[in-house]
Amino acid sequence: MNRLLIIGCGGVASVAIHKCCQNSEVFNEIMIASRTVSKCDALKEKLQDKTATKISTAKVDADNVDELVALINDYKPDAVLNLALPYQDLTIMDACLKTGVHYIDTANYEAEDTEDPEWRKIYEERCERLGFTAYFDYSWQWAYDERFKEAGLTALLGTGFDPGVTSVFAAYAKKHYFDTIETIDILDCNGGDHGYPFATNFNPEINLREVSAPGSYFENGKWVEIPAMSIKREYDFDGVGMKDMYLLHHEEIEALARNMPEVKRIRFFMTFGQSYLTHMKCLENVGLLRTDAIEFNGQQIVPIQFLKALLPDPASLGPRTVGKTNIGCIFTGMKDGKKRSIYIYNICDHQECYREVESQAISYTTGVPAMIGAMMVLNGDWKKPGVFTTDEFDPDPYMDALNKWGLPWVVVENPTLVD
Ligand code: NDP
Repeated sequence: MNRLLIIGCGGVASVAIHKCCQNSEVFNEIMIASRTVSKCDALKEKLQDKTATKISTAKVDADNVDELVALINDYKPDAVLNLALPYQDLTIMDACLKTGVHYIDTANYEAEDTEDPEWRKIYEERCERLGFTAYFDYSWQWAYDERFKEAGLTALLGTGFDPGVTSVFAAYAKKHYFDTIETIDILDCNGGDHGYPFATNFNPEINLREVSAPGSYFENGKWVEIPAMSIKREYDFDGVGMKDMYLLHHEEIEALARNMPEVKRIRFFMTFGQSYLTHMKCLENVGLLRTDAIEFNGQQIVPIQFLKALLPDPASLGPRTVGKTNIGCIFTGMKDGKKRSIYIYNICDHQECYREVESQAISYTTGVPAMIGAMMVLNGDWKKPGVFTTDEFDPDPYMDALNKWGLPWVVVENPTLVD
């Protein structure tokens, strides 16, 4: 009997919950707990009659460890799937340690208040030491490794698509196609069109912070940081066509650089249209991407949170988004003394996702791997004490599950490389 506590009930969680309910043999019982319990109740209402999975709901403030501990002690889940925001990663990990349950998430820890002097001191020291300035990094969660080991618990970090599936692709390439991998290019292409002048496909705050930050890549053992959007390439994506893509910092680079030290260069590219970039630059220039609080009419407001309230809810984009995503990795390296290159990718259709789970492909490509990650931990395929990313386990059962649960992938030999 497996019981999973899912925290958060936004775009990604909705897909993961639909998928858990399709997979009742593994997910016998789930609890959806979030800040706004009405969203959890509405989803339960929609799904309960169509699934053998028993669903319950609760209200929880995941910033509050005591509240989390009380909820976990009451529900007694085997694992917690954190689909709230990266801000809640550490409080939820603390609560899992206190209550003895496994932990799974899709994005690494990011501080909500980047002006906090205590956080800033550690952050600035890390920028200096490692050479990249992203607000998020794995050090905070990797620091829990000993405690999870001692408790005999698994923490599986970053089981979305990117990070998540992209790192599983790397482990799969290493296991089946290469003696040594020399370069990895992760390409994230969204060829979808939602018809709005400007909207983000997932949480606007997280998305805009990621895209407006400096880019970076890992080369010959070092981080190379570049101004935001300053490296651009064109690529002809299968199923989508020719797109502009830009080099970004991305969290799986950090984990892959640590866990596959033989790889000489790791880069991440994401496609953006010109209109998206122009809107974003304008919002940044007028101060609406600021993450610090300002006073307005006697009230404290954080501009990026106010902007989030103005933008379309990512969950509402589903019915109107058409087109496909293509996300995958190009690997080059050596096999049996010969050079080899392969491209592993998945193509996902926005409208097909909507028909299946009433969500667009961005939430779908994250929510399905979140369910699969939770399944790997619950069924024991990926259960070992400590804190791990998805490249640190046998990729085969996860790759099989991707084919089975809606994200089929292909391997292409000798793809066009990115210069
Ligand atoms: P949403 O903003 O749609 O959903 C977040 C949910 O978390 C909401 O239900 C929100 O509640 C809830 N929440 C926020 N704060 C708290 C809190 N303190 N206590 C309890 N619940 C809280 O985000 P997404 O679904 O788009 O993203 C979810 C996660 O997935 C994020 O961490 C994001 O970074 C990650 N992600 C990962 C990707 C990958 O490929 N690895 C890709 C895309 C996203 P409320 O309804 O009240 O706002």
